[in-house]
Formats: sequence, C-alpha cells, structure tokens
Amino acid sequence: MTEKPVTILYIEDNFENRVLVRRVLESEGYAMIEAGTAAQAFEQIEEHLPDLILMDINMPDMDGYTLTAKIKEKPAYQEIPIIAVTANVMRGDKERSLKAGCDGYIQKPIDIDILTEQIERYRQKSKKP
Ligand code: MN
Repeated sequence: MTEKPVTILYIEDNFENRVLVRRVLESEGYAMIEAGTAAQAFEQIEEHLPDLILMDINMPDMDGYTLTAKIKEKPAYQEIPIIAVTANVMRGDKERSLKAGCDGYIQKPIDIDILTEQIERYRQKSKKP
C-alpha cells in the first residue's frame, strides 16, 4: 500500500523560486502544487485541499497577509497550516504574519537544507492533539 504523499501548495509569483522549492520538496517525496496569483491559489486549494501552504508575502495582486486571512476565513480551510515566506526583515513582520493567521514563518532566501525540517515542524505543531 502506498501512502498518500503530503501535498504542499506554494503560493509565489516568482517562477524561479517555485522551480527551486518544487525541485527540493519533490525530491523529499512531497506532492507539489503551485499558484502564482491569489485567484489561482483559491482554485488550487479548492481542487486539492493541500496539507500545508507556503505563502509568499510579496505578491502583485494580493499580499500574502490578506490572502492568508481570506483563506482562514473559510471554515473548511482553517485547519490547513500556512507558513509565511518573506524577505521582509522589518521588525514586526513575523508578528504581522501570525496576526494574519499564519501558523509559522520562514525567512527568504529559503534555506533548502532546513526547509523540510521547518515544514515538518509546522505540520506537527498544527496537528490537533
Ligand atoms: Mn513575491
């Protein structure tokens, strides 16, 4: 019996970032789906109901804080852990991510050597006891 792979949605407008993260996470056995806009993100969530979302904060159509809040508004999606991914190093950015409803925070540039570990930590943390 094959276990269903953990599905991760990466919401990110930068194509190169998506390619890099997809390559890393697919090699670790995750199933990757992607969205480059907020509208695509909602389509992907509806279609695949991902196990976890990586959320770029700087997006052209809708910033990641707003998008996170909109996703978390929907009861069906509230259990999906959302990890903010951002290069913003301003103080308060982490707090803003958490306030918007993000479950965690990863700093850009993404450190691919610890990405899997970070994802698994947030997956464990968000599991209900
Ligand atoms: Mn971006």
